[in-house]
Amino acid sequence: MKILDGSSLSKKIRETLRKKLSKISGPKPGLAVILVGSDPASEIYVSKKEKLAKEVGFHSEVHRLPKDTSQNDLLKCIETLNGAQNIHGILVQMPLPKHIDTQAILHAVLPNKDVDGFHPTNLGRLMMGHPRFVPCTPAGILRLLKEYQVEISGKKAVILGRSLIVGKPLAHLLLNENATVTLCHSKTKNLKAECQSADILISAMGKPAHIDASFIKEGAVVIDVGINRMNQKIIGDIDFNSVSKKASFITPVPGGIGPMTIAMLLENTLKAFEIK
Ligand code: NDP
Repeated sequence: MKILDGSSLSKKIRETLRKKLSKISGPKPGLAVILVGSDPASEIYVSKKEKLAKEVGFHSEVHRLPKDTSQNDLLKCIETLNGAQNIHGILVQMPLPKHIDTQAILHAVLPNKDVDGFHPTNLGRLMMGHPRFVPCTPAGILRLLKEYQVEISGKKAVILGRSLIVGKPLAHLLLNENATVTLCHSKTKNLKAECQSADILISAMGKPAHIDASFIKEGAVVIDVGINRMNQKIIGDIDFNSVSKKASFITPVPGGIGPMTIAMLLENTLKAFEIK
């Protein structure tokens, strides 16, 4: 069994970005993150993104808005950033408070500044097989698989979770790589049998240690996207101890997909700068 070490690869990617950014004379590429409210998990993610963006050499701004911010005020903030010369990437931290229509917000970010890849234009491009900005978590998963030369073409990939953030875009990315993809969700019948057929199994359900070794085909590649907070600890959807005995490759939690997600966000921001 081999560990798919997202922390190391993320560091390597950030170092490459740091070198590229140091060669840019004049204003550096800019990333703006908007956080509405003070959800503790979102606070942690946003601070981490800000810290790493600065470390690499980006201009980084965080716009913290109160949780009762109106949809109109949030749209105005996005509009200002859409027009800002020094901002190349805009990210609205999810989830948003319930009184805000997430779809309206995702539509408002300029597609060329949409470094999260959630604008319909960017999702449509991915679906058509010529992506521009790919959502960061699926992009990070693919990059990690490629780094370790995991064969994807012709393999059966089973994805647990069909969210717009992970499962759906990942299904298209893997299809583009010629995998045969099955997308599972809470209404899937016999989840275990689906998992047992997977050469590559990716779990993004948010169900702590739900998948144990009995779900796994011998030699499967197992990717754990889940982040579940339990008793001050973060654990994934995969029961690492039992599954690692059967898998050929496995991601740890933490240290797997989380750091890859941030690395892809920073890469997308440099790409947005270059496109401009
Ligand atoms: P969502 O809650 O939006 O989606 C969860 C998905 O899992 C849904 O499609 C749901 O099905 C499915 N699901 C839930 N329970 C089961 C079950 N028992 N059997 C089969 N399918 C099930 O979550 P996200 O996609 O936003 O996130 C998923 C997990 O990944 C979370 O733990 C989150 O914290 C983590 N995450 C980690 C990231 C990282 O960088 N490492 C980035 C983004 C997310 P249905 O659609 O039918 O409800």
